[in-house]
Amino acid sequence: MFDPDPDLIAALRRARRIVASTGAGISAESGLSTFRDAQTGLWAKYKPEDLATPQAFQRNPRMVWEWYEWRRSIVATVEPNPGHAALARIETARPDFLLVTQNVDGLHAKAGSRNLVELHGNIRRSICFDQRHPAESWTRGEDIPPHCAQCGSLLRPDVVWFGETLPPDALRRAQQAAADCDLFLSIGTSTLVYPAAELPYIAGSNGATVVEINPDATPLSRLANFVVREKAGIALPAIAAAMLGKP
Ligand code: NAD
Repeated sequence: MFDPDPDLIAALRRARRIVASTGAGISAESGLSTFRDAQTGLWAKYKPEDLATPQAFQRNPRMVWEWYEWRRSIVATVEPNPGHAALARIETARPDFLLVTQNVDGLHAKAGSRNLVELHGNIRRSICFDQRHPAESWTRGEDIPPHCAQCGSLLRPDVVWFGETLPPDALRRAQQAAADCDLFLSIGTSTLVYPAAELPYIAGSNGATVVEINPDATPLSRLANFVVREKAGIALPAIAAAMLGKP
């Protein structure tokens, strides 16, 4: 039984603007492994840095597309867990709540979060390589990858690859929200991947209370005002219940 720190609950109740930032750890309890752990079976001999880059796609678009089809097939079988649900519940009670995620699995949206910034895109969507035209759907036919219906160039997943910049509007919105919030929750992220990793530091340097929820220590742990050494799927439902009452 996890009992949240009463001082943390008081700070959450007091905060006018709350921002949460999540990483791969929040989806671990849904059964999704982290990027590096995902290198199993057929793909074990490939490093993410060799597959998740524009150069890899240009070299071998079929291989990269098929790697993402494999990852999509895994994502399609998993469901949001109580951690995702608790964040959606906090948003319902506190419409000023903003959720920023590095995850590309779409599980926050599936759990009902709407005030959501997907900093690294979403593996369930595709865009075309040349013009970034969004592709709502595509046929799994002879062409691998399929072609863009608008310009004919190859489709690729709508995610941020190594060496690519983040969508500027999404990044600006996240940075502004971090600078303006009173309380920042960093959940299930190693805080090693920039620029997402700088968000809690932006919040902290603007006077916000910084909270880390992660079973393991990260570089952020020393700065955080509250450190919750617990899994997100255990900690977040208990925190939401203490903050908002039983669902
Ligand atoms: P990371 O793999 O670097 O770190 C995961 C963190 O989660 C670790 O600090 C770990 O201690 C913690 N963790 C593990 N289980 C947890 C749990 N049950 N509750 C709370 N925390 C838990 O992940 P990152 O910081 O998100 O950075 C990796 C990059 O890889 C990101 O850019 C992300 O886009 C991408 N990625 C996305 C997914 C996804 O969409 N599900 C999965 C893997 C990687």
